[in-house]
Amino acid sequence: MTDDLSRLSSSAYSQALEVIASVEPRIAEATRAELADQRASLKLIASENYASPAVLMTMGTWFSDKYAEGTVGHRFYAGCQNVDTVESIAAEHARELFGAEYAYVQPHSGIDANLVAFWSILAHRVEGPWLEKAQAKNVNELTDADWEELRRELGNQRLLGMSLDAGGHLTHGFRPNISGKMFHQQQYGTDPETGLLDYDKVAAKAREFKPLVLVAGYSAYPRRVDFAKMREIADEVGATLMVDMAHFAGLVAGKVFTGDEDPVPHAHIVTSTTHKSLRGPRGGIVLATEEYAPSVDRGCPMVLGGPLSHVMAAKAVAFAEARQDSFRGYAQQVADNAKSLAEGFLTRGTDLVTGGTDNHLVLVDVSKYGLTGRQAESALLEAGVVTNRNSVPADPNGAWYTSGIRLGTPALTTRGFGHDEFDTVADLIVDVLSNTQPGTTKAGGQSKASFVLADGVADRVRARSAEMLDKHPLYPGLELS
Ligand SMILES: *Cc1c(COP(=O)(O)O)cnc(C)c1O
Repeated sequence: MTDDLSRLSSSAYSQALEVIASVEPRIAEATRAELADQRASLKLIASENYASPAVLMTMGTWFSDKYAEGTVGHRFYAGCQNVDTVESIAAEHARELFGAEYAYVQPHSGIDANLVAFWSILAHRVEGPWLEKAQAKNVNELTDADWEELRRELGNQRLLGMSLDAGGHLTHGFRPNISGKMFHQQQYGTDPETGLLDYDKVAAKAREFKPLVLVAGYSAYPRRVDFAKMREIADEVGATLMVDMAHFAGLVAGKVFTGDEDPVPHAHIVTSTTHKSLRGPRGGIVLATEEYAPSVDRGCPMVLGGPLSHVMAAKAVAFAEARQDSFRGYAQQVADNAKSLAEGFLTRGTDLVTGGTDNHLVLVDVSKYGLTGRQAESALLEAGVVTNRNSVPADPNGAWYTSGIRLGTPALTTRGFGHDEFDTVADLIVDVLSNTQPGTTKAGGQSKASFVLADGVADRVRARSAEMLDKHPLYPGLELS
């Protein structure tokens, strides 16, 4: 931010907090405290970032008050001309940013974007042909018996996605998730030795299972994916390729992932969040080919509630930011920093799943330290390092305690951290892990949750973090009165 903008946002936020405090002072206080906490901690949560003041402020307006179910120019409510402007601009930026044929900017979150995509694929691939067979123009013409049969058809479709413990997301067919219940699901994993995707195995599974939907994308896989290969597999078995780029959309927007690593030219449908590496407001988007656009457009009101117009406006601002040259520099730095972090661990003898990274995240296997992921996460938090525990492939400690911690570089890269800082971050984490012992249970056995961090370590780590955080302030120049 320029000095002028810092001055403006300082007074805007200070005044906004006064207005809030006049109604509920505790919320104003919590809002101030959240800024202080975010400024003072080492944020390594791979799915988090810091949106710009412009993006944040765009969310706080009267667009929040407007209902606008439907699509641009085709609303179920009157008076949507300004929402139409906002939604058109957001969609235009999204199409240009990603080179997509069609962009739908209404989903409220990443999961909602995936539900819209599932709906769209079922409507396009199953409902459409079925209606034709039933010689009905639309669902309004169906009898109860027709409905019965259509439900059976829709509910008997197959989905193949990456398993949760290999790095996939809950919505990629995980049994307890709705995606694992509404679809017959099977999952592909990664090689238990290398931790890497094995495309031949994915292809073999697809040939045997013949899914309607092949889902690619991940939340905790530290490598790039070859989407051209995924499309080949989908085409061979007649599946729709859906790529969920929620985590790495910023690397796609910033042209770090190009060619076969860019999902947009290869997938039929691409879904994403807007608040992770893409650095926008909390929300989701769906990108699609022309073929799928009409069914994606029916997302609201068939799947989603009324669009959050204030958030669509903030998406437009964030996409405009991501189209600036400086965002490419940011995205490249995110990937370079992940490499620095990984090297920092490897030179200090720490195990990484797949032995490194070539995206924005690093998955540390903490077994060697005699700890569970849960213990590592808690010990690190005590030292002011915010991470999240994560399963490693074939995790002996299961999905709750886990054996890993997942670290991402998008947030601290926004603050300006570079190679040296990320090397220090690795050093701090190794310091904590190697000075933590498992605690004991009430019965005297070894606990998977409690831990003992050696005296002085938390203070030492906090002091070294503070040095780096002070050098790279969050929202420089923004001061609340
Ligand atoms: C984070 C994530 C989501 C969910 O996003 P929300 O906005 O929390 O709903 C979906 N898919 C993947 C791959 C993710 O990483």
